[in-house]
Amino acid sequence: MKLYNTLNRKTEEFKPLDEKRVKIYTCGPTVYSFAHIGNFTSYIYWDLLIRTLLLNGYGVDRVLNITDVGHLTSDADEGEDKMEKGAKREGKTVWEVAEMYMEDFLKNFRALNMVEPTSICRATDFIKEDFALVDTLDKKGYLYDTTDGLYFDTSKFPTYADFARLDLDHLKAGARVDFNSEKKNISDFAVWKWIRDGEDHAMQWEYRGRMGYPGWHLECATIIHEKLGEPIDIHCGGVDHIPVHHTNEIAEIEAAYDHKMANYWLHNNFITIEGEKISKSIGNVYYFDDLTERGFSPMDYKMWVLQGHYQSERNFAFNDLAAAKQRLLNYRNFAVLRWQKDATDLSEARKAILEQLNNNLNSAGAFAELDKVINTNVPDEEFVKFLDDAFGLNIAESTPDISEDLKAKIKERFEAKQARDFAKADRLRDEIAEEGIALLDNAEGSTWQYAK
Ligand code: AMP
Ligand code: ZN
Repeated sequence: MKLYNTLNRKTEEFKPLDEKRVKIYTCGPTVYSFAHIGNFTSYIYWDLLIRTLLLNGYGVDRVLNITDVGHLTSDADEGEDKMEKGAKREGKTVWEVAEMYMEDFLKNFRALNMVEPTSICRATDFIKEDFALVDTLDKKGYLYDTTDGLYFDTSKFPTYADFARLDLDHLKAGARVDFNSEKKNISDFAVWKWIRDGEDHAMQWEYRGRMGYPGWHLECATIIHEKLGEPIDIHCGGVDHIPVHHTNEIAEIEAAYDHKMANYWLHNNFITIEGEKISKSIGNVYYFDDLTERGFSPMDYKMWVLQGHYQSERNFAFNDLAAAKQRLLNYRNFAVLRWQKDATDLSEARKAILEQLNNNLNSAGAFAELDKVINTNVPDEEFVKFLDDAFGLNIAESTPDISEDLKAKIKERFEAKQARDFAKADRLRDEIAEEGIALLDNAEGSTWQYAK
């Protein structure tokens, strides 16, 4: 299995530390508003990664975090806490906001038939463990105190710039004039934030006799250390996380524990919508409810996402979503042949599909292999299960066999047609269509399909 590793910008053979337990961490959502369809692309691609690992016989231990505290609206440790912002907007407490959007996120996550993570961890459940990590970093001399919080001195971590290939000199030259004057280096970041006099913050914890809250990156470092133990095999997230969030997670873990954070780093690219960046001001922020209103299911969207590659920037358009929906229907109608005809040997197709997935998660290539066989072959239950294991598109579940009554009606209609009783044949065809079933006639009889 080959994966593109951001760590060295190369496509490499994947070698886990332990085949029975591949340790994966995926940065999760900040639960301060509804997640839009763009946010879910990342989870869909990582679901494909996990499914591919499972198909290769690996055991997977996957942790997903939920950011319910400490993520500021700016990456530079400035701006409002996103949770506080959400609470103000909704007239709710931050805890209520976190609960509501976390539930909504998980509802959509499950509607997309994602492999259930081994653990889902909320940042606020790991505050004590955060203290331990901050203490360790402090004891090792990586932190300094400012009025705003405890900062990580990036000049003390010589490999800081390596991961994102940052040009720190250039960063310095381009630094904004109003950057925190107590910061020693432009790239230094808050590990722990203090509540300053007169400042109001709903979520706060006492640490060293003062009230404060974690910096954003700390939760991921802590949860990885506690739940998986570094080094982990694979760390995943959006490309936007490379220069700040992931760079800072690495600094925290590697400085504190002298272990590499992760052996493989996978990053997904962004989607645009009808050519534009997703943005409230453009009005192109779509949620799954918007897709449902237009007749598309979460699975149709998953199909659209999987037609592309996780590393490619992609443009979403409703026309293309309609094409993806049709393609998924074609696969379902390939699957219904298992109720009607004798299965053919699809072991070569199965091998070819897995080979594509093993080639850095080339799902588009995998679907191309599937397309080669769907018109001339008949799958058995096991092959349909293989497709569901690979893509998680719920093909088996959404294609149950039809009732004996309906089968009898299909036969009756075909016989009426043979007998040139077209009025009866048409009436029966309409009744069958009402059940959502379409018919394809050939010399011996009718094959049934799902109409939508
Ligand atoms: P946010 O809650 O806005 O910080 O977004 C959370 C994460 O969702 C980001 O860090 C990205 O990795 C991902 N994301 C946001 N917008 C898009 C997009 N248009 N396409 C793909 N991923 C996105
Ligand atoms: Zn993270």
